[in-house]
Amino acid sequence: AIFGNLSDRLAETLANLRTKGKLTASDVDGTVREIRRALLEADVALPVVKDFTAHVRERALGDEVNRALNPAQQVVQIVNDELIRILGGQVRRIEFAKQPPTVIMLAGLQGAGKTTLAGKLAKQLRADRHAPLLVAADLQRPNAVQQLQVVGEQADTHVFAPEPGNGVGDPVRVAKDAVKFARDKQYDVVIIDTAGRLGVDAELMKQASNIRKATNPDEVLFVIDAMIGQDAVATAKAFQEGVDFTGVVLSKLDGDARGGAALSVAQVTGKPIMFASTGEGLDDFEVFHPDRMASRILDMGDILTLIEQAQRAFDEDEARRVAEKLATEAFTLDDFLQQMQQLRKAGNLKKMMGMLPGMGQMKEALDNFDEREIARTEAIIQSMTPAERQNPKLLNGSRRARIARGCGRTVTDVNELVKRFDQAAKMMKTVARGGTPQIPGMGPV
Ligand code: GDP
Repeated sequence: AIFGNLSDRLAETLANLRTKGKLTASDVDGTVREIRRALLEADVALPVVKDFTAHVRERALGDEVNRALNPAQQVVQIVNDELIRILGGQVRRIEFAKQPPTVIMLAGLQGAGKTTLAGKLAKQLRADRHAPLLVAADLQRPNAVQQLQVVGEQADTHVFAPEPGNGVGDPVRVAKDAVKFARDKQYDVVIIDTAGRLGVDAELMKQASNIRKATNPDEVLFVIDAMIGQDAVATAKAFQEGVDFTGVVLSKLDGDARGGAALSVAQVTGKPIMFASTGEGLDDFEVFHPDRMASRILDMGDILTLIEQAQRAFDEDEARRVAEKLATEAFTLDDFLQQMQQLRKAGNLKKMMGMLPGMGQMKEALDNFDEREIARTEAIIQSMTPAERQNPKLLNGSRRARIARGCGRTVTDVNELVKRFDQAAKMMKTVARGGTPQIPGMGPV
């Protein structure tokens, strides 16, 4: 994977520190030297490496490490901070124009992933209830317009392309006409795909710069292939001088590159990395989070993203099922059982969360939730007939006694369960009316 080697090297270097108590200046120097070597091998640009290691060294020799209970851990923290810093610090999202349409222009070398990105942006914008318009201003490559049309179809987005005989061959005019068209037809975001060359050249820059002047974009996104290695810095600088841009998009982060481009571009251009492209599909695209990328590099795993995904899957499935149930007003004991089993899955998160700071509250909630309780509930519900599970009102005294015998519990246990089920069913109705979902014994989820 990308950063694989760098991750291994950094993790190893930092792990070596962990065995030490107090750090001497020579420990720090040794570590900084290792970090420097690892970064250079990952194709990170020299000025960035110098800046990075100077900051790490200065801080590692300073008071914050001296006073720390665990100096090695503190150094890891510093390296993490500094990685976040060179990756641009904050998340930066698209800034929409106060007066629509918002104009987004894409620039970059041929093959960088501009056309693909245009489709990804359009799809995401549509999901966010925008009305994007794609503009084919790459009239250099013979089938570029057609490629954008294919992408537009996939993203269910209209493509503005030059009509035969009307401005063919003049991308500046096409881009300008497109913005006017968008204004007339109420498209609120215009995404302009521009031509790229295999290498940087003056004519290409001039054209991109002219498109920029003609359309006055709110965002100019410079798309760069993360695999281009050492050339990243020169290319980025050329585009900065030639066109200037407001943000960077790293594409092909799914590839097996050494990652130097990713680590150099934000720092060298002073422009934020806004998105990461991670595949050829239109959904392979994410907002770039410098902090998450830093922890990915430091081999701490992208734990936050992982948890977010787990939560999303959990919430969505559960919410859909509950909504369907509520529509028919039939929340049954089977649903109740399934819900508890879902919670057990969440229980597996407990281990992971124990390792994270700031997760205390969530962890406590999960601690209070008892595995054995679920096993008991399961046993009782499984002793019921299907009819009883579907319709708990059937559960009279003699049926409850039979169920208790069947699962080796007492009638009181069965009564207790039915009571909790009734509470859950009531809670489900609250959810239907728009209240906060609560799972019995767990507090808000
Ligand atoms: P353009 O010339 O800048 O418009 O680049 P394209 O969008 O045509 O992309 C060039 C090639 O790279 C195409 O084959 C894309 O499918 C592929 N591509 C684009 N983005 C990604 C990405 O994030 N990951 C991978 N693996 N391939 C990508």
